[in-house]
Amino acid sequence: MKLTYYGTGAGEGWPGLFCNCELCNEARKLKGKNIRTRSQAMVNDDLLIDLTPDTNMHSLVYGMDLSKINHLLVTHSHSDHFNPPDLELLRDPFAHNRPEVFHIYGNRRVKERIWDDVPDVMKVADRFTFHDAKPFQPVVMKDYVVVPLKALHDKREECLIYLITQGNKSILYAHDTGAFPDETIEYLKSSKVHLDLVSLDCTTQSSEDGKNHMGLVDAVKERKRLTDLGLGDDTTVWVVNHFSHNGLWLHDKMVEEADKYGFLVSYDTMTIEI
Ligand SMILES: [Zn+2]
Ligand SMILES: [Zn+2]
Ligand SMILES: [Zn+2]
Repeated sequence: MKLTYYGTGAGEGWPGLFCNCELCNEARKLKGKNIRTRSQAMVNDDLLIDLTPDTNMHSLVYGMDLSKINHLLVTHSHSDHFNPPDLELLRDPFAHNRPEVFHIYGNRRVKERIWDDVPDVMKVADRFTFHDAKPFQPVVMKDYVVVPLKALHDKREECLIYLITQGNKSILYAHDTGAFPDETIEYLKSSKVHLDLVSLDCTTQSSEDGKNHMGLVDAVKERKRLTDLGLGDDTTVWVVNHFSHNGLWLHDKMVEEADKYGFLVSYDTMTIEI
């Protein structure tokens, strides 16, 4: 099983589109792993997580291929994770040779945004099926079992993180979230899953949060909660991801700090095999 990170920045991207701060200017100059587009990831080559406004760029520049993708998990409706107008492109004459319908899993707000924000939504309605992703209710898709779990994020909607299992391997993809809600921890505990890859939010990098996002210290705390329960261990790959310029650490500094705690630091196009 593998996970590829296509977008590893927070909502504004890095450099922020209109930002003139020192860290954004530095990223513009240094480029490389300091350039972070907005959130998107792919499990193997057939399960997409989030539909960022940078999706087309990921296809053009990073080589992400959506021509045969039919399954999309959406974490929540924030604009860096979900850009419904692109769904218009699923239909003829914009997309040819797509016999299968496109399956979208998300919360109620995601569903509303599809109906509000996809131009000519009725023309594309037969090309996709929307599935309500409900916390703690496992869904089987292809050869995956996916469990939406509760995040601690925007209270106006039911933000989700995802537990994705294929065979005997499991990934916990946890963006955007603060400290895991107790219900989520309880579910993981009762499932007795062994987490092979855990991708933790690290939006605020150098500063503590835990209420809406995580900084590195919060990620360390959440890892401890998981390892104390035996859900993860030394064989687990621990990754921090989703970074903002307001966290103040460009890529190399982020790596230096994360290294102290044994976390890998994501960058756009990073692939991890478990
Ligand atoms: Zn985000
Ligand atoms: Zn900036
Ligand atoms: Zn968000």
